[in-house]
Amino acid sequence: MRKLGIYVQVPFCQTKCTYCNFHTGVVTKARFAPYAEAVCREIEKHCQWLNEAGVDWRNADTCETDNEEQFANAANVDRAGRLGRSSTASLQGTHDEWGSEFVVDTAYFGGGTPSLLEPKSLHEILQTIRETFTAELNEVTLEADPETVEVEKAAEWARAGINRVSFGVQSFSDEELAAAGRMHRRADIYRAVPILRDAGIQNISFDLIAGLPHQTRESWRQSLEELTALVPEHVSVYLLEVDEGSRLGRELLTGGARYSAGAVPSEDEMAEFYEMAQAALRAVGYHHYEISNWAKPGFESKHNVKYWRREPYLGFGAGAHSFSGTQRWANAHDAAAYVSAVESGRLPVEQLEAVTAERALEEELFLGLRQLEGIDVERIEREYGVPLAGRFEPLTSAGLVEREGSVVRLAQEKLSVSNEVFVELMR
Ligand code: SF4
Repeated sequence: MRKLGIYVQVPFCQTKCTYCNFHTGVVTKARFAPYAEAVCREIEKHCQWLNEAGVDWRNADTCETDNEEQFANAANVDRAGRLGRSSTASLQGTHDEWGSEFVVDTAYFGGGTPSLLEPKSLHEILQTIRETFTAELNEVTLEADPETVEVEKAAEWARAGINRVSFGVQSFSDEELAAAGRMHRRADIYRAVPILRDAGIQNISFDLIAGLPHQTRESWRQSLEELTALVPEHVSVYLLEVDEGSRLGRELLTGGARYSAGAVPSEDEMAEFYEMAQAALRAVGYHHYEISNWAKPGFESKHNVKYWRREPYLGFGAGAHSFSGTQRWANAHDAAAYVSAVESGRLPVEQLEAVTAERALEEELFLGLRQLEGIDVERIEREYGVPLAGRFEPLTSAGLVEREGSVVRLAQEKLSVSNEVFVELMR
C-alpha cells in the first residue's frame, strides 16, 4: 500500500507576528469548534468532493466506484462505503484496475496555531481520519506555541494520539520575541517542555528564526546554547523572509520604524547565523537532513519528508494544499468562506493544476536538492528523458554542488547561499 500524509490547516492565531506572511487570522474562540467540524466533514466527503472538482483522486479504500454494487460485492465494503481491512489483500487486482490504495501513516496539524483548538476537536479530527482512511498513524504532529501548553491539554493531546509537538520557539531572547510580536517569552519555553515530556510526548521539535529584529551574534549564540541544552529531538532553522506579505517585510522594503526593521540583521549576518547553527547542531549530534532541518538520528520528520520526495498528501482545512502525484490543488484561504462552503455541501477547492512533466522535473530538482542526501541524477534523466549533466556543471565548478557517482547534492559549506543554486537551475 502507498503511504499517504494528511495535513490539517488551522489558520487561527492569538495575534499576528510582525514577520508572518501566512494566511492566518485572529478570531474569537467561538469560531474554533465549527471550523473543526467542517474539517471533519471535509475529510469524510473528500473523495466525492474532489472528484466533483475535477481532481483525479482515486483511493480504493475510501472512494466509491461508478459501479458501487459490483465493487461492494467484490470488496466486502461496509455500509459507509469503506473496505473491510481483512478483504483488501485478496482484492489487489480489483484495486489496481480501479485506483491506488493508501495507508495514512502521518498526520500534521499546522497553522496558524493549532494548539489553540480544544483537544477534543483535535481528537475528533484524528478519529475522523482513522474512520475514513486505512490509518496506521505513526507520526502525528501538532504545531504549538509554548504559551498555549497546559498540563491537562498536553495529556489530552497524548491520549488523542499526538506524539510529536513542533514548537514555534523562534528565539530565547525576550527582546527579540517582543519585537517580533510573539505571545510567548523565554520562560514559557522552559515551562512547556517538561509538561510535554511528563505527558509522554517524546518527540519535540523547535523552530528558530535567524534574522529577527535586535538579533545579534551573541544573542543568537545564546539561543542556540539554550536550545541544545533542552535537547529537542528535532530542530528547524529558518531565515527571516522579507516580502510584502508581512508587516515587517513591508517595512523593510518600503521604510518605516514601527516594526523595528532598522534592527534586522543584514543578509550576511543571517548567513553567518545559519552557519553558526550548522556548527552548533552538528557538534551535539544532530543530523542535518534538509536545508532548514536537523534531527537526532531516527527523528527526521516523516511527514515533511513526503513533501520533498514528492509523495502524495491530502490537505484539509482553509488554504490547505494537496498533491496526488499528478495534480496539485488548494482549498479556499478564507476560513469563514471555507466553513460556509463545507456546511452547504460545496467543495472548498479553489485552485487545481495538473503537474506537467516540465513542472514535475523542476520539483524533482528543487525539492529533491533541499534534502542533503541529494538527488539521483541518472534516475531523473531516465524518468524524464532529459540530459541534466550540463545544468549541473557550472554549479559543480563553482563549488555549490558536489557530485558523487550519479548523486548530486548541495555542498555543505555553501548551504547558506543555496538560493543561488536554485536560481541557476531554474534558468
Ligand atoms: S504564530 Fe505563526 S502563524 Fe501565527 S501569526 Fe505568528 S508566525 Fe504567523
